[in-house]
Amino acid sequence: MNKALKNIKNWIVYILGLYKNSDYVVEYQRVANVRSSIYMAVVVMILEVWMILRYVIKYVIPGKYEMSVPIFFHYTRYYWILLLVAVGMCIYASLYITGKIKKSSWVTNLCIILFSGSCLAFGIQVSYGDFSKGRMIICFLTMVLYVACLLIWRPAISIALLSLIAAGFYQLLETKAVSPETGLPVQFDKGDYINYITFFITLTMVAISIYQQRHREAVEAEKLYQSTIRDELTGIPNVSRFSDLANEYIERAPEGGLIYLFFNIENFRTLNDQMGYDEGDAFLRGFAMVLSDVFEGEPYGRLSDDHFIALTGADGYEDRIDRLRSIVHEHSGKEVYLDVKVGGFRPGSGDISPMRCADRARYAAGFLKNKSDVYYSEYDDKMDQNFRTRQYVLNNIDKAIKDGNIHVYYQPVMWSKDKKLCGCEALARWIDDEHGVISPGIFIPVLEECRQIHKLDKCIYEIVCRDMRRSLDEGRPVLPTSINFSRLDFELMDAVNVLEELVEKYDIEREYLHVEITESALTSDVEGLKAAMDQLRDKGYELWLDDFGSGYSSMNVLKDFRFDLLKIDMVFLKGFSENPNSGKILKNIIDLADNLGMRTLTEGVETTDSVDFLSDAGCGRLQGYFFGKPMPYDELYKKISDGEYEISSESI
Ligand code: C2E
Ligand code: CA
Ligand code: CA
Repeated sequence: MNKALKNIKNWIVYILGLYKNSDYVVEYQRVANVRSSIYMAVVVMILEVWMILRYVIKYVIPGKYEMSVPIFFHYTRYYWILLLVAVGMCIYASLYITGKIKKSSWVTNLCIILFSGSCLAFGIQVSYGDFSKGRMIICFLTMVLYVACLLIWRPAISIALLSLIAAGFYQLLETKAVSPETGLPVQFDKGDYINYITFFITLTMVAISIYQQRHREAVEAEKLYQSTIRDELTGIPNVSRFSDLANEYIERAPEGGLIYLFFNIENFRTLNDQMGYDEGDAFLRGFAMVLSDVFEGEPYGRLSDDHFIALTGADGYEDRIDRLRSIVHEHSGKEVYLDVKVGGFRPGSGDISPMRCADRARYAAGFLKNKSDVYYSEYDDKMDQNFRTRQYVLNNIDKAIKDGNIHVYYQPVMWSKDKKLCGCEALARWIDDEHGVISPGIFIPVLEECRQIHKLDKCIYEIVCRDMRRSLDEGRPVLPTSINFSRLDFELMDAVNVLEELVEKYDIEREYLHVEITESALTSDVEGLKAAMDQLRDKGYELWLDDFGSGYSSMNVLKDFRFDLLKIDMVFLKGFSENPNSGKILKNIIDLADNLGMRTLTEGVETTDSVDFLSDAGCGRLQGYFFGKPMPYDELYKKISDGEYEISSESI
């Protein structure tokens, strides 16, 4: 019984449109009304101009009555009033739709009510005066039709309005309609009454159905809109919505300034791995709820994965972070300890977009990686310098490649036994018109992090091949050259094929090219890398293991991969003369490589002591500032022709 009553209640609420609409739906309907008002206003304008013209043609031109300007305006005053109201509505509505005026719901509603009220009043006025003559009923009905159908009111309002009008109209017919011929009250047929009543009922139905239809449209549009502004998983604003909200918030920024806070959940990956994706998703949803609670009334959103952002008043932001963290700690399970790392950025007076600010906050948070005791880092001048360089690198790498600003410098490699030149390493240099020489230490990590490194490496492969072709064509000795491959090269492009095509294009012997892969590259996607390396070896390229000993996985790498040569990292030569262990370690590594059938090269050789030691210890090749820094092709060959470097006959 209760249920039936409830259903009936719901049904009535639905039919009468008494439910609460979301702001979006209300605004959607308002815009629809404003649009309709334009059509209505235009028709009214045409009609009224026509009425005024008609008056002029009918009464003024024939000079039927004595006509002064005031008399003319007196007789046509209602047309003028309605014309003015319609022009006003039309202008307001056009400005509203094109976004040229600030939207205010009450001004808009007032305009619409005034306009439709004027139309109705006009209809009543004209009909009231003319009913007695048995005419102009149509004018009234037209105005009612207008107001009821072109604009949408909630059904309850439509029903009330139309019932009221119908009752008034009925009253008019009863009392005011007088026959022009006899001057007696007109006796309407029963049929006429029924027709008028039917007219109002139909109109009410049409008005309700239009409302329901527009309402459904608005709800659909809202759903679509929500899907573009909400993050699907957590339901909180997504990136683009956050950006809009932040822009609005900046306008009414609290005193004390603003701060962007970037949140990164620490150990989230472990949570996902250990507890499964469902748990991970649930955690993110929970975190989003906490975020919306802590930053209520301020912009916040989810950027991606476990990264969130908020824009908040700089006063007391620490408390908000503490609150957030303590809630996360409370809910972090025993299995996985979760924490939040926060990067902060205070926007200055400069005009930078919320997304750029969010990037800076994210950048600041990046400095917290692998630091267990700090959870907050704020963007400072030094970070700003790095950040700008980084942006510069990313924005300009394509242009630098295209404009030929990427160069290859060659660093000589010597045989330890006779100190003759046996080859060189190709090292990238970016010589920029604005910033001068940019070191690879700066741009390589950025390009790797942003997965753009393959563009640079492809360019380096090509320059190396082109330079070799040049040596061959000009009859110079060709120096075997090692090229640095990034692990990502194998992921982001078909590195083997790219190299193959170049080798064929420039007609180079593959044995002159060595592929250097750094030790730290060999920790993930091992199988994919192994396959690519096998391919390279099969084609005839040598594989060199770069930076051996610099990472944590050196021994594993030796166990799992096969290399032709081991490049011993320069860390072992740091403090070589003072630290007696350095020599022992180096000697052992060289022996180990020997046992594993690998040749050796030590990098970073700077002193005579180290040269002597390494030569005695049996390291085959040496590379370092002692023999020469990386230099352009021309300089290297000038040194060769000047006799500064003597090329060994057994260079491979
Ligand atoms: P890397 O492959 O280990 O290259 C050796 C680095 O040590 C070079 O720095 C070289 O200039 C420097 N070096 C050589 N001898 C000495 C020495 O005696 N003392 C000292 N202190 N340093 C020495 P560079 O050219 O700045 O390159 C830095 C790193 O950038 C390279 O380390 C390599 O990992 C990367 N890199 C350079 N060019 C490329 C490239 O074309 N592609 C890729 N993917 N990475 C590159
Ligand atoms: Ca290298
Ligand atoms: Ca190296």
